[in-house]
Amino acid sequence: MNMIPFNKPYMTGKELWNIAQAHAKGHLAGDGGFTKQCHRWLEQHTGCDKALLTHSCTAGLEMAALLADLQPGDEVIMPSFTFVSTANAFALRGAVPVFVDVRPDTLNLDERLVEAAITPKTRAIVPVHYAGVPCEMDALMDIARRHGLLVIEDAAQGLGSSYKGRALGAIGDLAALSFHETKNIIAGEGGALLVNNERFAERAEIIREKGTNRSQFFRGQVDKYTWVDIGSSYLPSELIAAFLLAQFDEVRDITQRRLAIWKNYHEAFAGLEAAGTLRRPIVPAHCEHNAHMYYLLLPGLAERTQLIEQMKARSVQAVFHYIPLHSAPAGRRYGRVGSASGELPVTSDISDRLVRLPLWLGLEERQAEVIDAVLQCS
Ligand SMILES: *Cc1c(COP(=O)(O)O)cnc(C)c1O
Repeated sequence: MNMIPFNKPYMTGKELWNIAQAHAKGHLAGDGGFTKQCHRWLEQHTGCDKALLTHSCTAGLEMAALLADLQPGDEVIMPSFTFVSTANAFALRGAVPVFVDVRPDTLNLDERLVEAAITPKTRAIVPVHYAGVPCEMDALMDIARRHGLLVIEDAAQGLGSSYKGRALGAIGDLAALSFHETKNIIAGEGGALLVNNERFAERAEIIREKGTNRSQFFRGQVDKYTWVDIGSSYLPSELIAAFLLAQFDEVRDITQRRLAIWKNYHEAFAGLEAAGTLRRPIVPAHCEHNAHMYYLLLPGLAERTQLIEQMKARSVQAVFHYIPLHSAPAGRRYGRVGSASGELPVTSDISDRLVRLPLWLGLEERQAEVIDAVLQCS
């Protein structure tokens, strides 16, 4: 039997048609008609003030770090249990990632531990919506307001999720989304910066356009365009936007199908959880998630290693992540742990025990094999 892969990019079938239209129009650089439609779609569907497509979520986070005007030595509070880009984008500006532990239930930044990590050098909090399950945004926004800090959402996994009815990415001052092929909505490589604080709207366009006021020039707001600020090239080609728009058109259907697969897993493993063999994901009642990921927490590292091996023998690819950033070589060099004990016990514990199961559109036909493999091997 051939292997059930961990991920398989889903294509709607309309992508090539859109790309052919971009090709026919002859506008291949960024910010053409397809990019504008993607911006409008994101603004309408998330309620963010302004959306700007980028090459990746990483690029969106780098833009956020530039907009925050971070200076060397400034501190940014974030989880250690996350993808490297969350920290790297800020380390690139010379800022110090300050790692705080995650909640044992959602594995999201523990808002109850954030205030203890704030120092006079703290400038921003970066909540990561792990598995597309929202962080406790009311509490985080309140802490940020009281201490004069920015909130920059790493919503790489969060498109289609909401916190108390508000879309992820539309809550913090700034947010970054990912359209990498491992996410729910894809463009191969791609992302977006969402701006919710109008103070950043104009400068975000400038930073994205190599530090020029080109966007204002095209709107007729200035009569020549020139170098006005630092910046880089963060805008993707129209070919990427054309592909992405085809995906946006089907987001509702894609999310519903992913949720059905997620629920199948969740029901299938209820018995193992009741027996104390493993723990299933927890989604708070006030949150709607997008079924970005299905994971299981096993009793320990040995059990996880064994499960992944036994599943592989049954032709199912299961994987784990993340190596906590505070224990990684670059995390030690550029960041620090923001707890009095110098440790992040929940992060260290769960990162050894977490296993992710395949979750992609088309898995429906063979999901029973994945479920069987877990049941047989647990
Ligand atoms: C995928 C991911 C990123 C990076 O996204 P890219 O689009 O590949 O740059 C950043 N943060 C988190 C939490 C992610 O899951």
